[in-house]
Amino acid sequence: MSLKTDYQSLWEKLPVNMSDVQFEKLEKLMNAVLEMNQRLNLTRMTNPDDFITGHLYDSLAVSMPKGETVLDVGTGGGFPGLPLAVCYPERRFTLLDATAKKIEAVKQIADTAEIHNVDFLVGRAEMLSRDEKYRESFDIVTSRAVAAYGVLSELCLPFVRTGGFFLAWKGPGAQDEIIESGKAATILGGKQPEIKDKNVLKNHGVHVIIFCEKKHETPKKYPRSFGQIKKKPLK
Ligand code: SAH
Repeated sequence: MSLKTDYQSLWEKLPVNMSDVQFEKLEKLMNAVLEMNQRLNLTRMTNPDDFITGHLYDSLAVSMPKGETVLDVGTGGGFPGLPLAVCYPERRFTLLDATAKKIEAVKQIADTAEIHNVDFLVGRAEMLSRDEKYRESFDIVTSRAVAAYGVLSELCLPFVRTGGFFLAWKGPGAQDEIIESGKAATILGGKQPEIKDKNVLKNHGVHVIIFCEKKHETPKKYPRSFGQIKKKPLK
């Protein structure tokens, strides 16, 4: 299997060009995740074809705004953070997850695939964004498959600096999630969220990215405790 040539029609659709070295890193990343997956449940996509479309291509099918620092909230097995780190080597990525075991695995995967522009954070997003070191301090925050948009906004937007972007990977229900989340994003300092990068992925359906630009600082009272965020999502 050649990642580069066998899946060329996918890569052609991406807004970024990849070198042979980058393809090699993505292939190493894939093999490392699949190997690790035998011990730790990181993904249900265990065949390469699924993995390439559902993880590698999906992570990269985004019109990345400008910005040097990127935080991936709830990175799990490293998505979308790790493939993005491969393709944007001049940026610095921080991969955050509440589960120490997952971050330990992602560290090993990054090591194996020789991805060096990454840092790691273990903890809950709603606690870490209260820390001055991280609050309002990233140019871009990404997140995939972590929570419904309203809840996710409270987990992610406090980390974004004014003028930066919060990008949420979503399925076909994205528009409904935006409506359901009401004013959550604007209460948290964001502009009205917009859907971009609409893609139909073979065997994975429609995937989109919800863009939200940060307009002003998040009010100090957010984020609330996770119990509150879940019980009474902002609207
Ligand atoms: N983004 C990955 C993983 C999704 S699974 C992917 O798309 O494949 C959701 C992950 O979010 C889990 O690993 C879970 O530990 C993490 N998570 C959920 N709530 C979180 C929170 N409040 N703070 C940090 N991580 C969280």
